Amino acid sequence: MRPCPRCQRPVVYMTPQCPHCGNVFAGPGAASHDAGMRMLLPVGRTGLSMAAGYVGLGALLIFPLAPVAIVLGVLAVRDIQRRPGTHGMGRAIFAIVVGALVSLVVAAVLIT
Ligand SMILES: [Zn+2]
Repeated sequence: MRPCPRCQRPVVYMTPQCPHCGNVFAGPGAASHDAGMRMLLPVGRTGLSMAAGYVGLGALLIFPLAPVAIVLGVLAVRDIQRRPGTHGMGRAIFAIVVGALVSLVVAAVLIT
């Protein structure tokens, strides 16, 4: 926790914006730390959602990939929720939806 420079209320460390007054932290702490993380982990932030997206697409052709797409999609959603400001939620949800749909279709075909 650290105090917000504008309203002085406690803010969770690394949060890019104050939830109380909406102040965006442009200080050296927030910006450089974020940039440093991005350089250290070039694939870590969106890598999971990218992988989930590709596996989701692949599941449309290769059905056994469907469960993998769901798992990767769920992991990517968690990863994105854990780190505010990251992108790729669309890909992650796409992977879960496609994975679930393909699994349902395969299950339906196997049952009938
Ligand atoms: Zn504030």
